[in-house]
Order: sequence, then C-alpha cells, then structure tokens
Amino acid sequence: MTTISKPNILLLYTGGTIGMVKDTDTGALVAFNFNKLLKNIPELKLLDCNIATISFDKPIDSSNMNIEGWVKIAQMIEDNYQQYDGFVVLHGSDTMSYSASALSFMLENLEKPVVFTGSQLPIGDLRTDAKENLITAIQVASLQENGKPQVAEVCLYFEYKLYRGNRTTKISAEHFNAFTSPNFPSLAESGVHLKVNEEYLFKKNSTKQLQVNSKFDANVAIVKIFPGLNESVIKAILSIPDLKGVVLETYGSGNAPTEDWFVGQLEEAIKKGIHIINVTQCSGGSVNMGQYETSSQLKQIGVISGKDITTEAAITKLMYLLGQNVAGNVFKTIFETSLRGEME
Ligand code: ASP
Repeated sequence: MTTISKPNILLLYTGGTIGMVKDTDTGALVAFNFNKLLKNIPELKLLDCNIATISFDKPIDSSNMNIEGWVKIAQMIEDNYQQYDGFVVLHGSDTMSYSASALSFMLENLEKPVVFTGSQLPIGDLRTDAKENLITAIQVASLQENGKPQVAEVCLYFEYKLYRGNRTTKISAEHFNAFTSPNFPSLAESGVHLKVNEEYLFKKNSTKQLQVNSKFDANVAIVKIFPGLNESVIKAILSIPDLKGVVLETYGSGNAPTEDWFVGQLEEAIKKGIHIINVTQCSGGSVNMGQYETSSQLKQIGVISGKDITTEAAITKLMYLLGQNVAGNVFKTIFETSLRGEME
C-alpha cells in the first residue's frame, strides 16, 4: 500500500494587522510576536498538512514594505523551495497587491502556490476575519493533483475568494471583503466546498526551474491626471534626475488632454528614454489607445499600453523590467506582453 504524505506548507509572517495588538500606551495597532499569533489558532493543528513557520525578524506594517522586503520574501521562498509544497505569506493588506504583483514577477517558472493573505481585524479580536483567511489560504496552498501542487502561481486569498495576486487591488479599509480583481475572474471560491476554477489557473509553458529575479529599479513615478493638472507639475516630474519610467493614470480607455504642452512634454520624455505606461484610473476595463481622439496622440508618440493591468502590477512590472535592464528598443513590446497573467 502506498502512503500519501501530507503536503508541507511554509507560513511566512511579514507583519500586518493579522498579528497586531493594541499598544497599551497609544492605542495604536503594532505588530507583535509571531509565536503568540500561532497560539491563537489551535485549529491549525487540525489541517491535513504539516505547517512550518518563518518570520521577518521585525514584523512590519505593510505601509513600510519596500523592495528590500520583497527580496527578503523571495529569498525565504527560494531557500525553502525544495522542502515545501506551498507557501502562505502573511502580509498587511494595505500594500498586499503591490507585494503579490512584485513577487509574481520575481518568481519566474514558479511551480508551487504562493498565497498572500492577511486580515482586517487582528487574530485575537473576537470578530476577526483572520482565522478563515489563514485556514483557507493554507488549504489552497495544500491542494494537490496527481502528487503536484494544483495552484502554481502567486495568488491572494481574502474573504472567501482566491485571486491571481497581480490582478488584485485593495478596495476597502472597512469591509472584510477588502480586495477585488476587476479584470480577471477569481481562481477559487470558498463556500461549503472549496471550488477551484481550473480554467483560470496560470499554466506555465516551460519546464524551466524556478528563477528568482531580485533586481528592481525604483527610478519611477505614478502620475494620476485630473482636470486642472498644470504644466509645471508634469514638467517637474518628468525632469526628475534619473527618472526612467512613469505609470500615467489616464481617464477611461486611456484618454488624456490633447493640449500641446501635455503631449509635447510626454513626447520629449519618451525621446529621452523615459518609458510612459498608460493605465486607466477606472477600477475596471482596459486602455485602448486610438479609440478616441484623446488617446491617438499618446499612441503616436510611443506611450506604452498598460491594457487592463492594475496600477499596482504596472508599477511593479515597470520597476522589475527596468531592473532586468530590458533594452529600450524592446521595452514597449515586452511591457505589453503578459508575463505572469497580469494583463490580457
Ligand atoms: N496597516 C495594516 C498593514 O497593511 C493593515 C492590514 O494589515 O490590513 O500592515
């Protein structure tokens, strides 16, 4: 008789509300000791997997997440990749979509699940959403099919839904349902059963081994346009020394003012080698430059289409591609290509 061994899951704690307690002096929520966190969830022992844990030396509120933090997470996954079947990353919800996007680009040829989760209320709180999020995230990371992980991508689990991480955005600081994936269906839903939507799971098309790309270039900016935006602001931003790329949040399907000063400044920046990415400030839908006269010029001057990408995935993809030293003449083509299912 063959015995099927239980999946080994590594729980990686970076910080966030899930593990926070109230500071008795100030009343503010601060990150606390991870071992205490686990003691609050005896249910974990009942799960059909082996769970090991690892933590940031100093857990952080995710508002303090940065490139160094992403590299630390990627490193922890790489160091433990062979020993574990799945990874659950506990992370503050505020910047979780950025981190999930960044990690999706960093972890090339991923064959195992990396599930980000967290909560809106600390795990010790009576009404906490942390337990369900954590338990189901672990179950997702444990899913196996023919002895192999069923999910092989960076995803985000929150309030009964599993999403592709680089498709998500945080939409609520109040509701337990804090995330959405406006342009891509959920990968799984948790109800009475855990229903996986097989057809939407990321299918890797190479047999190559995991490769961890840890270089990012942060000489970038996000600019959200608005009626009344003035010339000196755009000029100041585009003349930042060493600036290499800008994610431009435009209106609707990628529309922006047609005034000469605006288009002219962008054109000059592109000629200097600065990459301009057009993403929509709408919460759903896609950029389609050329559909309106107000986006035709952007197309002509060489603005890159972010298509239906989120701002979180766009800025991390930009920093990632710049970090990989992608050559200027192919940058646009590569940016407009889906690398990890982050765009159509
Ligand atoms: N401020 C917290 C963080 O992002 C919020 C949360 O965890 O939900 O770390």
